[in-house]
Amino acid sequence: MGGTFDPIHHGHLVAASEVAHHFDLDEVVFVPTGRPYQKVERVVSAAEDRYLMTVIATASNPRFSVSRVDVDRPGPTFTIDTLRDISEIYGPEVELYFITGADALGAILGWQNADELFELAHFVGCTRPGHTLHDPGLPQGKVTLLEIPALAISSSECRQRVAKGEPIWYLVPDGIVQYINKRGLYHTE
Ligand code: ATP
Ligand code: MG
Repeated sequence: MGGTFDPIHHGHLVAASEVAHHFDLDEVVFVPTGRPYQKVERVVSAAEDRYLMTVIATASNPRFSVSRVDVDRPGPTFTIDTLRDISEIYGPEVELYFITGADALGAILGWQNADELFELAHFVGCTRPGHTLHDPGLPQGKVTLLEIPALAISSSECRQRVAKGEPIWYLVPDGIVQYINKRGLYHTE
């Protein structure tokens, strides 16, 4: 599951958990982006902060892990590179699933090397409040649409809430509230 995770929240974690259960996955690898090429217009928190928050939020789940492939690769992050690297690390016999929310799934065909993406992974689109989930025309058999419990949480709103002094308790794991405060993240928009 790729994401900016700025910060990681319970919407991400529920999506990962539901997909893992549905497909009986051995592991969910969270991959925080390095520099997301689609988010150049706003200042994204330091990759190291986003990586550490992802580690904190996933640490208690034995099936969740975090990969540094995107954080450590210089330049903007493209999912094609993420999938190539993960596939190389885990080996050719491993079946990969790429987990997205409805908004991200709709954008996939515009991603770099879209054709090769579908050779490397099966795509899973999860329902997300405020977005309509539909197959944007991916190759036959390469995508599954999955209904998951609706959590109307976004990282953008979490950042805005912190900037306004509003609570984000229970939208993100407790350790993430504490990490954001400790590092003074998002206090100005
Ligand atoms: P931002 O508001 O900064 O874009 P975000 O909440 O959308 O943050 P991302 O890191 O951009 O989080 O998303 C990573 C992946 O998680 C995407 O595929 C996105 O669609 C999915 N996702 C995020 N929030 C939810 C949610 N509440 N329910 C289902 N999927 C989600
Ligand atoms: Mg997003």
